[in-house]
Amino acid sequence: MPRQAYVNGSYRPHREAAVHIEDRGYLFADGVYEVVPVHNGILVDEDLHLDRLDRSLSELQIEAPMSRPALKLVSRELMRRNGLSNGFLYMQVTRGVAPRDHKFPNNATPALVMMTRQMKPHSEKILSEGLKVITLPDQRWARCDIKSVSLLPNVLGKQAAAEAGAYEAWQVDGEGQVTEGTSTNAWIVTEGNRVITRDASNAILNGITRITLLNLIRAEGYELEERPFSVDEAKTAREAFLTSSTSFVLPVTQIDGQPVGNGHPGILTTKLRQHYMDYMQSLRQSA
Ligand code: PLP
Repeated sequence: MPRQAYVNGSYRPHREAAVHIEDRGYLFADGVYEVVPVHNGILVDEDLHLDRLDRSLSELQIEAPMSRPALKLVSRELMRRNGLSNGFLYMQVTRGVAPRDHKFPNNATPALVMMTRQMKPHSEKILSEGLKVITLPDQRWARCDIKSVSLLPNVLGKQAAAEAGAYEAWQVDGEGQVTEGTSTNAWIVTEGNRVITRDASNAILNGITRITLLNLIRAEGYELEERPFSVDEAKTAREAFLTSSTSFVLPVTQIDGQPVGNGHPGILTTKLRQHYMDYMQSLRQSA
């Protein structure tokens, strides 16, 4: 069966799945999304993702398109149709379709689309060599805590990284402190083996992988600080890494062309990736 997508109440062949040209997501980026990792057929941290979706929707005063149990049913049915075992489920909710006008429409129905994508495991090369990142000014709006589909600065940053031969761009605020990557959270490990990541605020998306990894770090008793760190601190750190629903935990070994630490994936980074992989492996699907 060809891959399917869910669009506003029906399952459609992925290739033909489409939304209306006056969907406010298309016209104004007036919508939010979630990317839920799927590991061995299990939706990882599904409820945390759905909690964040609820929060993003309520911050933008968009109604939930359906109840949580219904969302879970549709997710599972789409995964079943697509035989998804490892990859991710993407869901997007917009304010709906209405004649183009900036202010909220009076009675638009929220629009919901879902799609899935199978993913291969990260390559040995990435795991053994680590990733390059560049830094650039954070040009985004003041509500980066909302997982909005308005991602133009992120798109431009990721493109700048790709053009520089890097995987990711770490965005930097007006004080010279790293906020986060364009689609990942940023982390460093100090010479004293303390794990540092920026505290959750409007300046970053509070990644679900970040939240889970923080819990694992605490459970394992590693030293941890949630605070901003500067580009200089990152460049002179012992280790660096990034997290997201599709990266899990990946080592960063070069920042703006400078090696981080000894230029190889850090020992603690490698351990933390393993803790995260073990965590995913231990999950059983909830109803
Ligand atoms: N920061 C940004 C800007 C992102 O877009 C993402 C993921 O898409 C993340 C961080 C990581 O979030 P998560 O771990 O929930 O995937």
